[in-house]
Amino acid sequence: MAGTGKFFVGGNWKCNGTKDSIRKLVADLNSAKLEVDVDVVVAPPFLYLDQVKSSLTDRIELSSQNSWVGKGGAFTGEISVEQLKDIGATWVILGHSERRHVIGEDDQFIGKKAAYALSEGLGVIACIGEKLEEREGGKTFDVCFQQLKAFADAVPSWDKIVVAYEPVWAIGTGKVASPEQAQEVHVAVRDWLKQNVSAEVASKTRIIYGGSVNGGNSAELAKKEDIDGFLVGGASLKGPEFATIVNSVT
Ligand code: PGA
Repeated sequence: MAGTGKFFVGGNWKCNGTKDSIRKLVADLNSAKLEVDVDVVVAPPFLYLDQVKSSLTDRIELSSQNSWVGKGGAFTGEISVEQLKDIGATWVILGHSERRHVIGEDDQFIGKKAAYALSEGLGVIACIGEKLEEREGGKTFDVCFQQLKAFADAVPSWDKIVVAYEPVWAIGTGKVASPEQAQEVHVAVRDWLKQNVSAEVASKTRIIYGGSVNGGNSAELAKKEDIDGFLVGGASLKGPEFATIVNSVT
């Protein structure tokens, strides 16, 4: 843990859940014992943000999984940053690989979204990560640095950014990166920030890992010096397991 010293764990619920299952998940989270010095954030689907906000303990912050690139208005099907703030969200996940590779968002669009969300006061969980063929082709660092650069080019400040390194081959596959693989990229990302942004940003920015994190592998990953937390998908849908991950920093 080399970032601010405060571990950060986000739960990305993706496009999962119903009113009933989310009620149960919130109840489990409300009764979970979470370590005091960990920032904990959950990102429910848009439709349930309000339900979660009104029932979830204040101990856990709320994130959205996406946001519109500018001020709201005539943008059918989109959700604005202003609306997210209105229902109490304080974070937004941007650049997730499912939005990059399934929906087709590009680096510049994601960078603009990050800049707008930050300008309105939201924190940004900025996701980067390589596909399997890119890793096998020796391009992991190139891909991560290019995605990072698009954020760096767009944002005026890194104060409210958490970088999430999420190798695409590890997301939802059950194939978690080894602690050494994750650490290697986290060190490279920190070094890139040092060279291209500033030494202060490099030392303060939390770099979290995502991709098949679960209650059984989080403690080993958390021991690595440059892993400052996790972005958790599947395992965040189970309250007790998510709590185990949060507490794995001890
Ligand atoms: P996973 O997803 O934990 O289900 O692999 C992580 C993510 O996409 O953020």
